[in-house]
Amino acid sequence: MTTAQDRPSGGQDSPVVLPVTAAVVRVTGGPFALEELSLDTRLRPDEILVRVVATGVCQTDVHVRDQHPPTPLPAVLGHEGAGVVMRAGAAVTTAAPGDHVVMSYQSCGRCRPCLSGFPTYCARSFPVNFGGSRPDGTNALRDGDGAEVHGHFFGQSSFATHSIATERNVVRVPDDLPLHLLAPLGCGFQTGAGAVLNSLRVPPGASLVVLGTGAVGLAAVMAARATGASPVIAVDIVPERLALAAELGATHTVNAKEEDIAARIAGITGGGADFVLEITGRPEMLTLAVNALAPLGTAAQIGGAPAGAHAEVNMNALLGGRTVRGIAQGDSIPRLFIPQLIALHRAGRFPFDRLIRAYGFEDINQAVADTCDGSVVKPVLRIGG
Ligand SMILES: [Zn+2]
Ligand SMILES: [Zn+2]
Repeated sequence: MTTAQDRPSGGQDSPVVLPVTAAVVRVTGGPFALEELSLDTRLRPDEILVRVVATGVCQTDVHVRDQHPPTPLPAVLGHEGAGVVMRAGAAVTTAAPGDHVVMSYQSCGRCRPCLSGFPTYCARSFPVNFGGSRPDGTNALRDGDGAEVHGHFFGQSSFATHSIATERNVVRVPDDLPLHLLAPLGCGFQTGAGAVLNSLRVPPGASLVVLGTGAVGLAAVMAARATGASPVIAVDIVPERLALAAELGATHTVNAKEEDIAARIAGITGGGADFVLEITGRPEMLTLAVNALAPLGTAAQIGGAPAGAHAEVNMNALLGGRTVRGIAQGDSIPRLFIPQLIALHRAGRFPFDRLIRAYGFEDINQAVADTCDGSVVKPVLRIGG
């Protein structure tokens, strides 16, 4: 349904510059400060202007605030945006004003991985997601002094009331589901679920271990349950998260502070797991993941690690047919995979709404603090009505 506020006022007479409210990071380490900015809405042919309704907070936003990786500051972050299309560029055919959309990661569409159907490994992934500008170096955001503010983060910079995305990273979604619930599908939830369903194609009856039960890990637990994996072993140090993992489908939980992870996995699986997902970003956990595998098993690195992190791997363990691989964004092609996740959700098999806590936009720093200390799995900022 298109409402009056979704239409640019006056059609071609609409103002080029739109006043927006955005959370700006000006110095390394934050805070996220709400500022009034201006957004130049002269769209490129492939661009889409979105009125942001909600945005998830992801650990990557926090890491970039801390300049790992170093998106240039000042910048508007946010990369799990959902909202309503206001206007689409001349070449856009898959979204129109009034459509409800989720925004996902960006990719170039022209490199070898993109052309091979693996845009999550885009050769230009860093500049198009973390570069802080369009690929041509331009930026649509200015502050009150007219100075440039870096945007286009993950092709969206959705910690803002309005966002300029592109046809490549926008996915239409049904308008009968709340946008604040759908927002995290564009990164965290598709990352965990995609690792299980797309990348590893975990079969029924396979044993699977999830090291780290944040939003990504719990999405993996739900997907593993949906696909019939068993046992599904969740490992973490936060008891509340382990309890939630058990409710969402983990057959076993291991508190890494109190128990010997390797011994528990060996005991539960009877000698090794078919799949281990490493989501903590800690080198010693990847070492443990490889050592916990059954012959022919696969250990997958999913969580981002500190710059320069290296893990020790038992070389002879690999001779048992074991595989170590990395996975980005769950190998998701968002326009295909997000509708699949919504279908699973409607069937009651992917209850991701249970992971979400909503915050007002002005409470963004509290939302970040709550996800960093583990007390909230997936904060979502409610930005627009
Ligand atoms: Zn993310
Ligand atoms: Zn590419």
